[in-house]
Amino acid sequence: MIITKVELIPVSTPLVKPFIMPGTRITHIHSVVLKLHTDEGIVGYGDSGDTSTWYRGETQESMTAMIANHIAPAFLIGQDPLNIEKIVGQMDTFVRDNNQAKALVDFALHDLKGKALGVPVYQLLGGKNAEASVQGWVASAGPVDQVVAEAVQAHENGFCLIKLKSDGNSDHDVDNVREVRAALGDSARIVVDANGFWNYDQALKTMRRLDRYGMECIEQPVPHWDIEGMARLRTRIDTPIFADESAQELHNIREIIERRAADGLFIKMQKAGGLLKAQRWLTMARLADMAVMSGCMIGSGLEASPSAHLMIANNWASQFTHENLGPLIINNQWENAEQTITQDIALNVPVFADGKLYPNEGPGFGIELNEEFIATHITEGKQTVTVGELVGV
Ligand SMILES: [Mg+2]
Repeated sequence: MIITKVELIPVSTPLVKPFIMPGTRITHIHSVVLKLHTDEGIVGYGDSGDTSTWYRGETQESMTAMIANHIAPAFLIGQDPLNIEKIVGQMDTFVRDNNQAKALVDFALHDLKGKALGVPVYQLLGGKNAEASVQGWVASAGPVDQVVAEAVQAHENGFCLIKLKSDGNSDHDVDNVREVRAALGDSARIVVDANGFWNYDQALKTMRRLDRYGMECIEQPVPHWDIEGMARLRTRIDTPIFADESAQELHNIREIIERRAADGLFIKMQKAGGLLKAQRWLTMARLADMAVMSGCMIGSGLEASPSAHLMIANNWASQFTHENLGPLIINNQWENAEQTITQDIALNVPVFADGKLYPNEGPGFGIELNEEFIATHITEGKQTVTVGELVGV
């Protein structure tokens, strides 16, 4: 089997309710859907999830250009898609960064291979350690009463952990944590994600005020490049530190481990560069005895699928709580077992129920595309880019 055609479709999915992050208000998810066509008629799908210049530095345009102009002609067209390790190795050798673009290719290759072999992707990754992955809820930033109300509702809907997004105002962060703790009680698991927007001084002062609330962890309290600062901070506060933006490539993980800069690691498939590289990443976390949490870029049921399959297949990752909630955030829902999701690139979004995520059964990611939704949500002013179409090979 060989890859004959590569299709890159820019899709913009509107959120039912905007999601607020420090300095940004997300109203649409701008992603790229990749289709890898083969001479045997099997097609592999991937969805990049949302792009953000500040988190990954990649956009619809940059991913499309990197794949269409460089990766597809050199390493995909005419190649056997079952050789995932070989293709990922070539991408890493010849493309220095661009892990979200590489992850998109890796996702579609895994979907294709699962379909070719007639097995769900979790079978390619080791089989099942669990039926579902346990999910925490990520609350949108906002006024304290709004954040508390969302945390209480999430808790009532089965989410065992609440992540609060810092808006950069320390007084506000302390108010949020104090009031959520008061509303949910001592046993509630609370995380604050600073997304690297605090400086060291602000991180130390804020965390000294937050230490008393027994939080599960503080995520990325200092800028991504300041691993030394994170290590210093860790010796001066009680709350465990998780590295997100700092923990990207394997050499970052090695440095964090060597400097003892974090207690745990936060992974996204798009940050690690796909399922194959995420497995190496998780092996290093396990080796260092570091807890992991997996998140999403916010995306469709297709975007949620790679992580959903890996989080139940990987023995280390399956022991922890994750947050992979894209379709729920986009559609402003707590579950989709009873309430169907309509705004999605996937027709059959994986089931979210009682704070757990169940990957689809069926070959590959088990996802059927909602072609009508995709056709009516092509990003304004953009169009599908196609490479290849080898005929008669
Ligand atoms: Mg984070």
